[in-house]
Amino acid sequence: MIIGIDLGTTNSEVAIVREGRVHIVTEHGSGIVPSCIGLDPQGNLLVGREARNQYAVRPEHTVRSVKRLMGKTEQIPLGDQTYTPPELSAMILRKLKNMAEAELGGSVTRAVITVPAYFNDAQRQATREAGALAGLEVLRILNEPTAAGLAFEAEGVTGTRHVMVYDLGGGTFDVSILKMSGDVVEVLASHGDNHLGGDDIDDLLFSHLLDKFYQDHPELGALTPVGVNRLKLACEQLKMELSATAAARLAELSLPLETAATTDLIMEVTRPELEALCEELLHKTMASVRHVMAQSGIGAGALDEIILVGGSTRMPAIADLLEEELHIRPRHDVQPELAVAMGAGVMAARLGGAKSHRILVDVTPYTFGVSCMGEVNGEYGPYRFESVIKAGTPLPAQRGQVFFTMVPGQEAVQVRVFQGENPDCRENVFIGDFRITDLDQGADVNSPILLNMALDLDGLLTVTAIEQCSGQSKSVVIEGALKALDEAALAASREKIAAFFADENQPLADDAPPEDDLADEFEEDEEPAAEQALLERARRILATLDEVDRADLETAIAAFEAAEQPAAAEQALANIEDILYFAEGKS
Ligand code: AMP
Repeated sequence: MIIGIDLGTTNSEVAIVREGRVHIVTEHGSGIVPSCIGLDPQGNLLVGREARNQYAVRPEHTVRSVKRLMGKTEQIPLGDQTYTPPELSAMILRKLKNMAEAELGGSVTRAVITVPAYFNDAQRQATREAGALAGLEVLRILNEPTAAGLAFEAEGVTGTRHVMVYDLGGGTFDVSILKMSGDVVEVLASHGDNHLGGDDIDDLLFSHLLDKFYQDHPELGALTPVGVNRLKLACEQLKMELSATAAARLAELSLPLETAATTDLIMEVTRPELEALCEELLHKTMASVRHVMAQSGIGAGALDEIILVGGSTRMPAIADLLEEELHIRPRHDVQPELAVAMGAGVMAARLGGAKSHRILVDVTPYTFGVSCMGEVNGEYGPYRFESVIKAGTPLPAQRGQVFFTMVPGQEAVQVRVFQGENPDCRENVFIGDFRITDLDQGADVNSPILLNMALDLDGLLTVTAIEQCSGQSKSVVIEGALKALDEAALAASREKIAAFFADENQPLADDAPPEDDLADEFEEDEEPAAEQALLERARRILATLDEVDRADLETAIAAFEAAEQPAAAEQALANIEDILYFAEGKS
């Protein structure tokens, strides 16, 4: 049995296939597992809803949104230990695996896991690593919009269809255009905002209600942090109710105040009020919609379908705005929070041998190439970057290119592989190298070296160099820019994670958990050097961007330079990072 997993920023789900039908595994009646990990006061590990529930009262002992850190080398403290993003993700995966095993009554060792279309190689590799740590062989890393496309795919539809996948989750927003043609699904364009989602809508509602409360009752003073967190959670509930009803009531009783007293907070909010609060946010998503339409090169008339993915698309205003813009009523016949997991389940079933001839085509968001002698910025040297597999190439891809030795009789060639777009290889990400030696010494000409690169759907890059005349060859398999853990580290990590699940009641830490605030750790305090590196990356990529992205990035850089307050600078940096996140994959 192969399972399909949507490992989300806010929530995760697992799908299995039984009797030819995909369905989501539930626990206590719900298939949605919050992507939260925490420690209770006794040091017991909590994953999912329990971890999320304690966030309101113990935010410093709860980790959320670990997906945002995938591919980074950060260590995240929890209890008296620190964990890598794959280790924490593995705890969520382990929980999903356990749920599937309980449902199926047997062991599960293989999975399909989805990732955003714009995840780079390092992030995909980190996801694969998380799977391995959870005891799952990841058979396929599947792009989320592609999975959504599969979930909505009707039986027996033929011909080419262009489908828009509008995905607004808890913390991220993506919109993609798929070309679904017979057996092939291709992601034509993707755009979005890595820090935009339902959480922001909750925050807008929360700020609005809190301001109103303080205005109406200045005599009561401030709520305690626990009171504030309770109100935040209540705002999410209220928002969800407003997707179904035109007005809803917030009734939070006995909210604790700093004065040690408590207060009851009862307010009525209407749907138009909520929509007015998030109007700007929703219009921002519509700008991305227009952007992908332009980027995909298909005219509005060629769009056949819009599918809605992500819990936040339950807000009726979203379907209305999309219909107004594109004159197509969006489909929501698959539950939007489950569509990606369902698609992963469809894929898992196919990999497990269910009858299907469908081939999936995803594209590489990055360019891969090698360094060679040549001119860079007017100077001759060994730093020239030659692209071999270009960004946007459908996967799996295989490309070859011929290079020559520098001098006749050269004994060896060093092949250095990079991921990036800059003609100067020093500005790209170095991802691996190897040397072919014992080249044909007798050659009296510069000897041709054939370089082959093969990139599979899971981001594994195989690079082979062959000296044509001698047949000398060497190859290397690169599993992502993030160095895979070595065996010892992997084994230690596995042990650490296995220990949690061997006895879920076993305390994680003997000592009291540290007092430092985990939520603060998540704010990613940028070092000045990191800021500089980010700005340099941003300035470098500017010239390669299309008009919309360039204007966005220039505005964000200007905002950073003009920022007088740390908060404004931080916000501007977050915007720059966001724009780069999507733009780098595209250029
Ligand atoms: P997902 O990441 O797809 O699980 O989506 C999670 C987000 O969807 C959270 O921000 C939820 O508050 C939001 N959400 C779930 N149900 C609704 C609803 N009925 N109306 C509005 N937002 C919702």
